[in-house]
Amino acid sequence: MITGPEPSGIAGSGHVITARGERCFFCGEATEDPAVMWSGATGEIFLHPPCFPELMIRGSRDLLELEHRSGGRLAWRPDERNQGAAPS
Ligand SMILES: [Zn+2]
Repeated sequence: MITGPEPSGIAGSGHVITARGERCFFCGEATEDPAVMWSGATGEIFLHPPCFPELMIRGSRDLLELEHRSGGRLAWRPDERNQGAAPS
């Protein structure tokens, strides 16, 4: 989601989310609108727009390392790996 003075573009929410008074999850500096905001299971993170691709690049690098460490397969937890798969 993009923060700012305009209501959220998510249909029906009508909420205005601001990054003012928050800190960037990546660099730790104060954020202003517009910023990127994600809500997760334990809270929200805010990111400066230039910091967003920096985080994604590092996340992709970590995922590639995880793939290599798991022998070329992504190391999903066994109980999640088969969710949605057709019964065998
Ligand atoms: Zn930042």
